Amino acid sequence: MIDGPFAINVQSMLIVMLVSSVLMAAVLWFAFAGRFRDGLAKWTTSLWVQALAWLLFAGRGLVPDVLAVAAANGLLALTWALQFAAIIEFRRRRVAPWLLWAPPAAILVLFLALDDRQLQLAASGLLYGAANILIAVSVLRGRPRHILRARWLLAGCYTLAAVTLIVRGSGAWMEPEGLETALTANSYHGFLYLGTYALIVAGSFAFLLMHKERSDEETSRLATTDPLTGVFNRRTFIELAEQELARSRRAGTSLALMMLDLDHFKRVNDTYGHLTGDEVLVSFTRLIKDCVRRGDLVVRYGGEEFCVLLPGTSLSAATALAERIRATCAARELTAKSFRVTASIGLTAYAGGIDATLGDLLARADEALYRAKDEGRNRVIALPPGEGAATTQRILPLEQAG
Ligand code: GH3
Ligand code: MG
Ligand code: MG
Repeated sequence: MIDGPFAINVQSMLIVMLVSSVLMAAVLWFAFAGRFRDGLAKWTTSLWVQALAWLLFAGRGLVPDVLAVAAANGLLALTWALQFAAIIEFRRRRVAPWLLWAPPAAILVLFLALDDRQLQLAASGLLYGAANILIAVSVLRGRPRHILRARWLLAGCYTLAAVTLIVRGSGAWMEPEGLETALTANSYHGFLYLGTYALIVAGSFAFLLMHKERSDEETSRLATTDPLTGVFNRRTFIELAEQELARSRRAGTSLALMMLDLDHFKRVNDTYGHLTGDEVLVSFTRLIKDCVRRGDLVVRYGGEEFCVLLPGTSLSAATALAERIRATCAARELTAKSFRVTASIGLTAYAGGIDATLGDLLARADEALYRAKDEGRNRVIALPPGEGAATTQRILPLEQAG
């Protein structure tokens, strides 16, 4: 039965799908062989397996049905199992081995045990549909939550596949008399196979895009943050702080700058070891972040020295905040070992009026910190704008900054 332009010869369509699966698999293999990671190997394998499934489907009539129907469907189930596993690996979780062999085994048993073609089509269609919904849901899970564009694309592909398969399965169940072999050329099969072809291409693109989105995010995080504490590094802080200062100048709002340094930190390393020292740095960062607002910029400025830029904050408000950080730090054991460290904090502010560069502010906060150290540590010293003998601190050129 031929009915219109979409009544494409199904065997030709299967060959097109075979070629596109092989092409996608070959391209991925060429691009990533030797450095497959995060599910890319399983995704590539799924495309090879899929190609084999299309080959067997296309061989219907030439090879025994146990190959062209049962084995081909088993391979199709293996394809989805591999893609599901690839998505789990993308989320950096381990895949249980049974996840790979159980679905194809179940489909093989189903096709070998049921010799009613209608039942086979209905049951497999519904099972495949359910599997695709499960995969779509698992695509959207996992971190980071905000990188979702490519994931929506892939989840959309699986949802479309699920709808098609369920319609096909339930159609086979409800209208047995309309049941035709899967190889008949009609518009319905034309759309079905064209859709499957589109999903092979779009799905693989979407999976690759997921990798690209995440690796872009990871690269940007590595370039802008300190690996130990996760707060901004110096280079990023300088860039963002300059912008904040310019904004304060335009809006005429105040802005405070806090410089914090752990007291006698060398002794912590010498007494408890470097690893414990690192733990202290991480806990101290968390303590700072717990005290400041979301829009405040926290940076690891040097080894055990941190800065916080507080937009829209007056010197007196910042001093109160600094005092809270100092007191919390002095009162808390920052690691499992029972010792405490204290911090000295220097502060200054930009309050409009007297113009100041970021270098001026950093120099003044540094001077305040130096005074806090000089006066016995574990204290907060604030230097209002215009006070102190601070000269402009040289801001390191970006390529030297941390
Ligand atoms: P002060 O009270 O005058 O600040 O004394 P201090 O010992 O804290 O200051 P000093 O500058 O003499 O020593 C800073 C120490 O910080 C020395 C260095 O080994 C340590 N340090 C710097 N970066 C790291 C790091 O990433 N991890 C650890 N564990 N220690 C670090
Ligand atoms: Mg110190
Ligand atoms: Mg220091």
